[in-house]
Parts: sequence; structure tokens; C-alpha cells
Amino acid sequence: MSFKIKDFFNASEEEFSDWKWQYRHRIKTVEELEKLIQLSELEKEDIKRALEVFPMAISPYYASLINPENPECPIRMQAVPSLAELQKSPWDLEDPLYEERDSPSEESCITHRYPDRVLFLISNRCAMYCRHCTRKRRVGNKEYDYSEKVILEGIEYIREHPEIRDVLLSGGDALLVSDERLDWLIGELFDIPHVEIVRIGTRAPVTLPQRITPELCKILEKYPSLWLNTHFNHPKEITPEAKKAMDMLAHAGIPLGNQSVLLRGINDCPMIIKKLCHELLKVRTRPYYLYQCDLSIGLEHFRTSVARGIEIMEMLRGHTSGLAVPTFVIDAPGGEEKSLSSPITGSHVRTLESSSEITKG
Ligand code: SF4
Repeated sequence: MSFKIKDFFNASEEEFSDWKWQYRHRIKTVEELEKLIQLSELEKEDIKRALEVFPMAISPYYASLINPENPECPIRMQAVPSLAELQKSPWDLEDPLYEERDSPSEESCITHRYPDRVLFLISNRCAMYCRHCTRKRRVGNKEYDYSEKVILEGIEYIREHPEIRDVLLSGGDALLVSDERLDWLIGELFDIPHVEIVRIGTRAPVTLPQRITPELCKILEKYPSLWLNTHFNHPKEITPEAKKAMDMLAHAGIPLGNQSVLLRGINDCPMIIKKLCHELLKVRTRPYYLYQCDLSIGLEHFRTSVARGIEIMEMLRGHTSGLAVPTFVIDAPGGEEKSLSSPITGSHVRTLESSSEITKG
């Protein structure tokens, strides 16, 4: 439907390929959305109610991937709010990954749980507010905008802690800052003698592949130990535009990984995950983690059973190349480990105690 979307916005090819244009024209209201996809009166009412709690933003590019006639389109389900987001299950938690508890202060954008690595939230913006986002309480919320002062304090914190060797930049989306700012920030981090690697967590290749420009790649390729993890959940997301973006990053010498989340009705099927992993390898991206959907509020309708995750892993292991098999991860709240075992999946099922491993966007 990209033709229809371009028409709707009266956009030229050049505008549609410009990430800043895409960002400025994100679809944020029901009135805009109903012109692009079929919505019943009831659905419109439901979306409006959901928007009172969680914002919506969909880049025109990502909206163009939606099948407008299919309410169960996997792209649509990740992008369009539903009333189910307002249901709170007894096990939902405000901050299931304890990111705020493990922050040096309330205002800080750093989460420091493990001695040698930190999560550094540098942006509160996303090209799209994914309905399954683990940080949906924060993304797009002005209260969580990071000021210059907070970012500088984050850098200072890393400088003062010589045990930190690995910095994970996330947000929001770590690539939703300007080229200049990103270059400055990564440069500052690599100027710290004990910082060995910097990892970027971004969903831009999926929801805004136009963000991957030759200028950005020129900046990223300057840094020798920079890694990038992205977040494809469905093979339909690996479009020609996304392939081009991943190809440009690979050419810039950036090691690429992918972290998917298992989502009910979207990708909780072995054939979909297998196809996704194969498509990822074709764009030189390692399927790294497959996450169990976590316990953030508003995600209950997306959660699958742990057994389903193990079943999917069993259908992958031994049935395709090892490189195409991600690790299935359950991120237990508050650092409490859960142990899982499977005779077939073996070490490919494990738990993590910390969100600091997570990019999820
Ligand atoms: S999953 Fe990532 S890209 Fe999507 S809303 Fe959350 S932080 Fe943003």
C-alpha cells in the first residue's frame, strides 16, 4: 500500500525516502489511521481509549506494510493499538526488568546491574511505538525526555566506573538522534579508556530503514568495536528497504544481530520463526535472541506460554543450520532466575536476569 500512503501524504519519492520526513509524518491519530486501514466504529472507539494511556506513532513506511483488510496482519498487530492493552493481569509490573531500581538516581538514563556493562538510554523517540514494547510506560512520554545534562551525567558515570567495559545504547531508539549527536556520543564513550565496546539497540532498520543513510554509515564505520542489534519479529518486515539498510550496515563493517520477541498471533509459530531466521541470515544478521514477552503492563494479550517457546526451539534445533537458531531467553523480573531445561534445545534455552542485555528497540 505504499502507493496509497504516498498519495495520502502527497509525498514525492524523495520525501518518502527521507527519514526525517518519515518521522515528521508518523501516524498518530485515529482520524489519520482510518483513512489508511479498514476500521469499524467499535475499533475506532477502542483505539481512542487505548490512546488515552499509551501513545501511537507509525511511520508511513511501516504503515505501508500493513494489509489494510486483514485485522490479524502481523504488521498491523505490532503497530495499531487495541483495547487489550488496557487489561492488567495480576502478574503485570510497572518496571518488570527493574531498570529504574538499578539506576544510580531517579533521573539517570543509566541502568547498571552487572559490573562490566551498562544500559544507556539516549533517546525517548521511536519511529513507531510498538504495541509490545517493554518500555511502553516511557517511550513517547515527555517526562522521560533526556536532557543534555542527563546525557552528560550518564557519560560521567561511565567515566567514573572503570569496571564498565561494555555500553549498550538504547532508548526509545538509539538511532533516533541526529548524526552529529550520535557521533559525538559514541566518540565520547570510546575516549574513555576502559570502554571496550559500544552496542547500539535500534528498531530503525525495521520501522524506519530510511534512517540508515550513507552519512550515518560513514560515522559508524569509524568505530572499530561497535555492534548493532535490531529487532525484526516477522519475515514480512524484511522488505527490500530493510534489506538495503542491513546491507549498508554490513558494508560499514558493523556486526549485526537480531533480537525478536515471541508474540501471540504474530510470530508464535515455528515456520514463521524459521523463515525469519533464514531471511535474517541472508542479510548477514545473526538471529541472536528470541525473547519470551515480558511482564510489562498491557502486554498480556501478546504473551505466549513458555512451553510454546520451547516447542518452537525444538522445531528449529537440528532442523536447520545452527547459525539460524537463536537463544530462547526469559527475562525474569528483578533478577530472579528461572531454570528451564529441554533435552533437545539444551543450552539454547536460558534465562537472563537483566534488562541490560536487552535492546528490544
Ligand atoms: S520496541 Fe523499541 S522501537 Fe519499539 S517502541 Fe519500544 S523502544 Fe521503541
